[in-house]
Amino acid sequence: MCQVNEDYRDQLELPVPSVSRKCVKCREATAAVIIRAGDAYCKGCFKEYFIHKFRAMLGKNRIIFPAEKVLLAVSGGPSSFSMLRQVQEGLSLNAHKKLRFLPGIVYIDEGGAVGQSLEERKRTVTDLQALFKATGFSFHIVPLEQVLDLPSSIVQTTPSLSEHPASAYKAAVDHLIQNDSGDYLTLQEDENASLPDVQEYHTKLLQQLTGSAKTLTAREDLLNTLRQHLLVHTARTEGYSKLMLGDNCTRLAVKLLSSISLGRGAQLAQDTGFSDSRYGDIILVRPMRDYSAKEIAYYNHMFNVPYVFIPSIDTKTRDKASIQRLTESFVIKLQADFPSTVSTIYRTSEKLQTACKSTSTADHRDRCLLCMCVLDTSVENSSAFKATLISEQLSQTKCSEDTIAQVEPESTAPTGQYCSSREVDCGRAASNGGCCSSVKVSETPSLQSLLCYSCQLTIKDMSSVEHFPEYILLEAQKRQRRTQMKEEISEFLLNDGADGD
Ligand SMILES: [Zn+2]
Ligand SMILES: [Zn+2]
Repeated sequence: MCQVNEDYRDQLELPVPSVSRKCVKCREATAAVIIRAGDAYCKGCFKEYFIHKFRAMLGKNRIIFPAEKVLLAVSGGPSSFSMLRQVQEGLSLNAHKKLRFLPGIVYIDEGGAVGQSLEERKRTVTDLQALFKATGFSFHIVPLEQVLDLPSSIVQTTPSLSEHPASAYKAAVDHLIQNDSGDYLTLQEDENASLPDVQEYHTKLLQQLTGSAKTLTAREDLLNTLRQHLLVHTARTEGYSKLMLGDNCTRLAVKLLSSISLGRGAQLAQDTGFSDSRYGDIILVRPMRDYSAKEIAYYNHMFNVPYVFIPSIDTKTRDKASIQRLTESFVIKLQADFPSTVSTIYRTSEKLQTACKSTSTADHRDRCLLCMCVLDTSVENSSAFKATLISEQLSQTKCSEDTIAQVEPESTAPTGQYCSSREVDCGRAASNGGCCSSVKVSETPSLQSLLCYSCQLTIKDMSSVEHFPEYILLEAQKRQRRTQMKEEISEFLLNDGADGD
């Protein structure tokens, strides 16, 4: 997950520049770390700066309310463990600086998708358990296999429970300070503390699902989506209203660039912003977005923040194995030679806003079935997207009608080459021993019309959608039936004047 961070491990010889160099902050202690060119901090000041930045990020955005239950998504990597440490530090601060929410931890065990054995997975979980227990927070360890049993409600928008006005925040804080009884923040429960039994059958199903993605790019994208669904589901069932993610600035710069390459331009603001409300009642927040991976590595090293190495799907792959991997290595190389570029990339994300801002009002039929963002595919006819669509349709027609005539001489070519689309029924061509021998997806619903542009690309890279979890397929059928019904009765409906018939 957070491979970006690993690359600093070898360089962790803390650069003590010269013996005489003093901390720029207190001007007394000897500098121990250089954050940016010229900014040398001593150990104490660095710690203070680091902790302050976390609290300031939460304070500035005023999204997390006092006594609210917040679920911290810990992947095991340095960034999310650093986030966990910041929450611990924040809770132990003195009265008016103190963080005032109720934290819990969630860890998604993706060992099944990565191909780890059950023993390896159990070992990792045991390591993490010990670290989580030491925090005193309640924690949930969830195997990714559970994504197969999610309810359809995860891909339906749940309206936000309460819209807190900005003024309510201050009132809530004041109220809490007055009634502060001290230590109310320890919720020590022991539920879900160990890895629930994973059935081999489920692991197989999960592997079939990820295996049906033909490229690593699509597989990573798919895994991201599934992980997020499971995180949101866990938050919902355990009664949390916020989900904290450990994405740091370097990670977000990678995400920003790879999202553009993956056709997620319309969703950039949500994918990389501080808060993300696409799931309605559960808000995703990214409080680590101001820290670079390097800063985190320094902090973790100096203050003994542990982390557990957990292989991810692109561990030990080449740079060019996927778009995400390639972007990552590009950003890291950029960071090495031009250190301020990364924060420039990431600051771009702060300025982004989605054109269709009605994220909370749009009903779920207008949302992507997979990533839950507002659909970016209903655009006017003259758009680039429609042009791509038309040319695609044209080439498909050509495939089903002309292939036989044109392609016959070279019919020894590998099957499926002329017809990449799985929707076109190339019956004629197939009966002639030509293309599209793999068209057998007709029973499973076609998902294309229910997806955003980027998720459509991912699905195109999958051999079939039949291994998708039931909650996605059922919701797809439901939405399609609804559209169909709407079409059938459209004659009898009073239009909003658009068609004027
Ligand atoms: Zn200092
Ligand atoms: Zn999507």
